Amino acid sequence: MKFNTKVIHGGQQHEPHTGSVNVPVFLTSTFAQRTPGELKAGYEYSRAANPTRQALEDALASIENGATGLAFGSGLAAMDAVLKFLNPGDEVIAVDDLYGGSYRLFTRLYEKYDLKFTFVSFDDVSKIADVITDKTKLIWLETPTNPLMKLVDIKAVADLIKGKDILLAVDNTFASPYIQRPIDLGADIVMHSATKYLGGHSDVIAGALITKTKELGDALHFIQFASGGILGPHDSYLVLRGIKTLSLRMQRHSENGIEVAKYLEQHPSVEKVFYPGLPSHPQYELAKKQMKENGGMVSFTFKSGKKEDAVKLLENLKVFTLAESLGGVESLANHPATMTHASIPAEKRAELGITDDLVRLSVGIEDLEDLISDLEKAFSSI
Ligand SMILES: *Cc1c(COP(=O)(O)O)cnc(C)c1O
Repeated sequence: MKFNTKVIHGGQQHEPHTGSVNVPVFLTSTFAQRTPGELKAGYEYSRAANPTRQALEDALASIENGATGLAFGSGLAAMDAVLKFLNPGDEVIAVDDLYGGSYRLFTRLYEKYDLKFTFVSFDDVSKIADVITDKTKLIWLETPTNPLMKLVDIKAVADLIKGKDILLAVDNTFASPYIQRPIDLGADIVMHSATKYLGGHSDVIAGALITKTKELGDALHFIQFASGGILGPHDSYLVLRGIKTLSLRMQRHSENGIEVAKYLEQHPSVEKVFYPGLPSHPQYELAKKQMKENGGMVSFTFKSGKKEDAVKLLENLKVFTLAESLGGVESLANHPATMTHASIPAEKRAELGITDDLVRLSVGIEDLEDLISDLEKAFSSI
């Protein structure tokens, strides 16, 4: 099956008893057994497996070209399961421009369990080679990064660690599998905040892991089962429903995204636009090679460099909603320094380039004319 067919049919079957075309929401914690230990359809207790969650997990594996999919109660719960796979003393190398909550999970929770995290810029893979030690067990990257839209060459990183006992995990939340499939490029684990593009409707918090091998999938399923960060059946249904329109939504997000980026780039008040589909992006060539399209995430700064200008613009947007999160059908606007990335210390933010005048847009699937005129009016209020 090709991708647009997979988002609808991948790993799915009609419910065998009634023929229900959609998987039912199986609101049950447990499953009846006729004699002890004999399961009717492999299901025993819903923390271990639930048919609605299973349908979603099979869809996830299908669309990311992986062996196993796992659905968690949030993106961070999914990451947490990967970290529990490691042992005290192990080292993790992570890209330095990281989702704020991922940074918080690494540094404020797992450092105390004696995992060591080294943050480096992944724009040149030799910088990763410099910090690999014999204790390095995991490389964690995002591409495009949040919020500066830096790209990482997934295949180059996978090639660098080929043959070594190091796992490569890619947070594919910003791109979605419509745009790039990390396992095809050599990653071992793909992670999603399914809250974002996979769910697509800003109505659910969910996370996902997809593994290249069944062996790794089984090990992570054991952690999911043993520590319990599962996604419930209702939420599993919502994400599954979202995935069915992923291709259509990503096409429109990308069409609107590039136009909003171009509009911002020519605007006299704008200093810099961060969007991989613009020829001014330093990794424009990599974007063309690695990404099918460029998605809906666009960040920018002001010529004035003033935080007040960013705040004023954000207060005056009407079609864009000022809110955290991204990836839903509706356009959202965010001020990373005070919102999504507030958990990163101010000096560290400054070092990374997450300045106080930086605005991040999640461009939705509304009519482009309405989005541009909304921005136009908000700019004129400054
Ligand atoms: C939102 C997000 C997360 C965290 O996911 P939750 O579902 O909020 O727990 C991780 N990575 C990225 C890139 C995100 O945008």
